[in-house]
Amino acid sequence: MVISGETLYIICKNLTDVFRAEKVLSEAGISVRTVPSPPKEAGPCSTVLEISGNDLEKSETLLKQCFIETVKVIPARAERTALLERLTGFDRSSAFSAALSRIMEGSPPTLPDLRVLLEAAGEDRQILWKAADNIRQACIGDVVDIRAALEFSNHCRRNCLYCGLRRENRKLARYRMTETEILDQALKIKEMGIRTIILQSGEDTWFTTERIVSLIQGIKKETGMRITLSLGEREPEEYIIFKEAGADNYLLKVETTDPALYKALHPDMSVVDRMEHVRMIKKARYITGSGNIIGLPGQDIDSIARDIIWCWQEGIHMIGIGPFIPAPNTPLEAHTPGAVGLTLNAIAVTRLVCRNAFIPSTTALATLDRKAQMQGLACGANTVMLIMTPPGVREKYMIYGNKMMVDLEWALTMINSLGRKRPSYITGAF
Ligand code: SF4
Repeated sequence: MVISGETLYIICKNLTDVFRAEKVLSEAGISVRTVPSPPKEAGPCSTVLEISGNDLEKSETLLKQCFIETVKVIPARAERTALLERLTGFDRSSAFSAALSRIMEGSPPTLPDLRVLLEAAGEDRQILWKAADNIRQACIGDVVDIRAALEFSNHCRRNCLYCGLRRENRKLARYRMTETEILDQALKIKEMGIRTIILQSGEDTWFTTERIVSLIQGIKKETGMRITLSLGEREPEEYIIFKEAGADNYLLKVETTDPALYKALHPDMSVVDRMEHVRMIKKARYITGSGNIIGLPGQDIDSIARDIIWCWQEGIHMIGIGPFIPAPNTPLEAHTPGAVGLTLNAIAVTRLVCRNAFIPSTTALATLDRKAQMQGLACGANTVMLIMTPPGVREKYMIYGNKMMVDLEWALTMINSLGRKRPSYITGAF
């Protein structure tokens, strides 16, 4: 039964219908968002439409008129109370437990609640992590998704203060892999059983529209893998062209949603543009990834809380949260790294808020502390990214210092140690 005014999910047959429906409804003035789907309803990494119950009748009529078939409509209300009951040591009188209860029961995330949760320490922290792990298990299941990143160029036109690839880092030896080298490596990744390749680079305009299209089409033809692009900001029309060429996902981290902090760290960029690019990517019908960095100089807890709320508001499908790590030969090389505990809290809070999103336990976490990457998987994360850039160039993709080269053996070690499930497509013995 639908309660008047409550938030609803409309589930369509496929992604094409979801995006067609979004267009029809928004053009009719109905407030609609595409958000990650509850996996039991539509499968992981899929997308549903979120509307207000008040608009249901009008929406259904419009969709019928446009021959868009809907599978069903379900309330978005979370069934989290039972999960809350399972938490041991839960003192219901504290500000922490009040905030946790509200978030777990499906209240919209607020700045005060997220602040309290992000600051959790001691026993509260253990409860927070356990709660996020419970939500992860209930909403996403036990499988840890494994993806492979191929960092094919370390040239970058930008000058982000924290990044070793910034254009003013003259000490970094630059490289670009050839199309043949990229395809050969993609085939190796496919042979490992991996189903998603992440094509990652700095903002390298040498890789023109045509060159990227050629890469996408070549990889699709030779491997059939899903392709995630992580190329930075491109021209608006390129997002559409790359999607039509066969790209599936696009990853563009916002890094921080704090306008002043963003400006200080990205001298020639704007956070408004950055957010607009993420929206363009989502509008171009990609499964959309974003995320932030924890521990940036000048960042505070409220700033991190706002990043998480932004991911929730935008319905981001994949959310990468990694600690800041100083990169050699950058203005921030002497700055203290982000704290592991706060990063893990941010992963946990993000899982509680954006419960169906793909959340990686990042390479950056592993770089600070190998065990922390495992802990990330135990407090809400469900994805690991392997670094599959070939030796000889991978050392030069130095976005930060001493990057840990996460490989399949380590990913499976973590999965086994945690009693989680490897994806069915990985069959090799380790
Ligand atoms: S963070 Fe991205 S855009 Fe900025 S310098 Fe590094 S690679 Fe370039």
